[in-house]
Amino acid sequence: MDEVIIIGAGIGGLTLGLTLQKSGIPCRVYESVPEVRAIGVGINLLPHATKELAALGLEAALAKVAIETRDATFFNRFGQLIYQEPLGRAAGYDHPQFSIHRGDLQMVLLDAFRDRAGADRVIVNHHCLGVEQDSAGVTVTFSDGPGGKERFTVRGRVAIACDGINSAVRKQFFPDEGEPRYSGVNMWRGVTRWKPILSGASMVRAGWLSHGKMVIYPIREASADGLQLINWVAEIETPNYRKRDWNRAGSLDDFIGPFSDWHFDWLDVPAFIRAADSVLEFPMVDQDPLPRWTFGRITLLGDAAHPMVPRGSNGAGQAILDAKALTSALSGIADPVAALAAYEQQRLEATTRIVLTNRTNPPDAILREVFQRTHDRPFKTIDDVISRDELVALSDGYKRIAGYSKDALRQ
Ligand SMILES: Cc1cc2nc3c(=O)[nH]c(=O)nc-3n(C[C@H](O)[C@H](O)[C@H](O)COP(=O)(O)OP(=O)(O)OC[C@H]3O[C@@H](n4cnc5c(N)ncnc54)[C@H](O)[C@@H]3O)c2cc1C
Repeated sequence: MDEVIIIGAGIGGLTLGLTLQKSGIPCRVYESVPEVRAIGVGINLLPHATKELAALGLEAALAKVAIETRDATFFNRFGQLIYQEPLGRAAGYDHPQFSIHRGDLQMVLLDAFRDRAGADRVIVNHHCLGVEQDSAGVTVTFSDGPGGKERFTVRGRVAIACDGINSAVRKQFFPDEGEPRYSGVNMWRGVTRWKPILSGASMVRAGWLSHGKMVIYPIREASADGLQLINWVAEIETPNYRKRDWNRAGSLDDFIGPFSDWHFDWLDVPAFIRAADSVLEFPMVDQDPLPRWTFGRITLLGDAAHPMVPRGSNGAGQAILDAKALTSALSGIADPVAALAAYEQQRLEATTRIVLTNRTNPPDAILREVFQRTHDRPFKTIDDVISRDELVALSDGYKRIAGYSKDALRQ
C-alpha cells in the first residue's frame, strides 16, 4: 500500500526502480508482456545518462555489453566527409557514450533491479488499463496482458506511468490527443554482423532525409570472427507508413533503392544492408509536448511523458534523467502530491525543449545544412560549403539544449 507503483519495465521504469531502491523507497514494477525479452535494436546513451547509470553502479556491466562510442562522423550521400568530432570520454567527458542493443540495456537494468530489490518486485503479464486515486493512495487496474480478460487491482502510494509511447495512462488523462504524430519520415532498422567501420566505435550519419539518410554504429564488440554487431537505420521521407509496431518486419525492396549506389571506400552500404540479420520498419513519430504530466498521485515518465523523434540519441537518456529527478523529489518531499508536482516542474520544460529541437535542429541538422548549400551535389572541399565553426556551433547548440554540454555535466 505504501509502495510506488511503476507501470512498465522498459528503460525508464527499470531505472526508476533502481533509483528508488537505492533511496530506500519501496516500489514494484508491473509489465504488460508475459516475459521481458531483449528486443529492439540499437540505442545510444550519452554522458548525461551514463553519469546516472554509473551512480547506480552499472558502468562496468554496461561496458561489458556495449561499445564505448568514440566519434560522430558525418558524410554526404556521395561518401564525402563533412564533419567529425570526438564523443564521450574521447571528447573529454568524465563519462562515456555507450552504443548498445536496447535489449542488452534492458537486461542489465532488469538483472540489477531483481538482484537488489528481489525478483518479486517485477510482476509481468500485468497490462495497465487505468489508474484511480483518492486522498490515501492510488488503485491501478491491470489485465492479464494486452487484451486479457482477467482483472487485477493494486493499491499504492503513487503510480508512475512508464508505459512508453502508447501509454494507457497518458490516454486516460488526454483522451482526445490522438495517435502519435508522424514526422513524414519512415525508418527501416536492422543489425548486420560486419567488420569494424572507420574507428570501430564511430557513430556515422550520412545523406539526408529527402533522398535517404543512414545512421550506422556498432553495438557489440567483435566476436572471434572479427565481426561486430552493427546497428543501422535508414530514414527516408515517405508520405505514409503502414503500421506502428516496434516489432514490425520491414522489406529491403521498400528502401534499398536510394542507397544502391552508396559504394564508399569506408563502406559498401548496399552490401552491408543486404547482410542484415533482419529488418524492422517503424515510423518516426513523437507527440506535441503536454501542458502537464502530474495529476495528484499519478504522473508520466519517459516516452509516456515526452516521446521524441530519435534524431538526437536522447529518448532513453531523458527517461533516465526523469527517474533521477522523480526519485530526488520523492526522497526530499514528504507529501507525494507535492513531490510529483516538483518532478514535473523540474522536467517538463527541459524535455519540451528537446522534443521541439529534435523536430527542427537535432545533430543531423549538419547534414541538412550541407545538403541545402550544395544543392545535393558533391563538393570540392567542405570549407567552400560551411566553416568548421558553424559545424561546431550546430553540434554544441544541441548539446546545450539536451543538457549534456561538458560544463552542464560538471556542475
Ligand atoms: C519493444 C520495444 C523496442 C524498442 N526498440 C527501440 C530501438 O530499437 N531503438 C530505440 O531507439 N528505441 C527503441 N524503443 C524505445 C525506447 O526504449 C524508448 O524510446 C526509450 O528508451 C524510453 O524508454 P521508456 O521506458 O519510456 O519506454 P519503453 O522502453 O518503450 O518502455 C515501455 C514499457 O512499458 C511496457 N508497457 C506498455 N504498455 C503497458 C501497459 N499498458 N501496462 C504495463 N506495461 C506497459 C512496454 O512493454 C515496455 O516494457 C523500443 C521500445 C520497445 C517497447
